[in-house]
Amino acid sequence: MINQHLFDDIIEKAEEVKSKSRRPVAVFDLDGTLFVYTPRVKQVLLDALDGKEDQFPGIKTLIENIPHTSYEYLVVDTLKKYDISMPGLEDHLLTFWERWFFDNKYIKHDYPLPGAVEFVNKLSENGIFIVYLTGRDWPRMGKGTEESLIKSGFPMDKNNSKLIMKPRFEDDNWAHKNRSINEINVLGDVVAAFDNEPGEANILADNFPSAVVVMVHNIHSPGAPPLRESLRHIENFNDGYLK
Ligand SMILES: [Mg+2]
Repeated sequence: MINQHLFDDIIEKAEEVKSKSRRPVAVFDLDGTLFVYTPRVKQVLLDALDGKEDQFPGIKTLIENIPHTSYEYLVVDTLKKYDISMPGLEDHLLTFWERWFFDNKYIKHDYPLPGAVEFVNKLSENGIFIVYLTGRDWPRMGKGTEESLIKSGFPMDKNNSKLIMKPRFEDDNWAHKNRSINEINVLGDVVAAFDNEPGEANILADNFPSAVVVMVHNIHSPGAPPLRESLRHIENFNDGYLK
């Protein structure tokens, strides 16, 4: 059962927008907001250890036994948490992770947060235009991201949804999201926006003050700024409000 209270609040705003002959828009981040991506991290680490039993004995088994739900945001913090250390191990894993985490090949290991597919589809069925606003980049992750959204059952019809990705891998996430605000404003009036990064949720709250802006509590980067007071809080799309 989706979070009906949150859903109803968004629909109410959407009806207001529609009554002014404007198009309502809802904005969703992907990693950590619509998708759980720690299984992707885990698979990358396991593949990094393929054929490395001589160099890092026993490490692959250790990693296999850590549930992806216990992963920290940074790979090094996950290793520390489980006391996994060996000369050269951290460097090897990080190099492999950096090459493959942001790649089409591994996106299939993600899965949607509970309730996410139903929640987004119901918004779409109610005439809300869906924007997927992600820090993933088009050249390395475009194809895999489109496939994953379609396979998971998220709305992907070009007439009522849009995927906005970084044009280049090197682009800064925050700058990209800030720049995309103008592009989104052209599409219609934002009635809801969701992100799992406090800094990015704040950007959404500042730019869309009349929207329902939601912080999805999941793993996020360390050293995150304090959250705007106006944000709503969920852990997944089925939950009631956390506060
Ligand atoms: Mg995210």
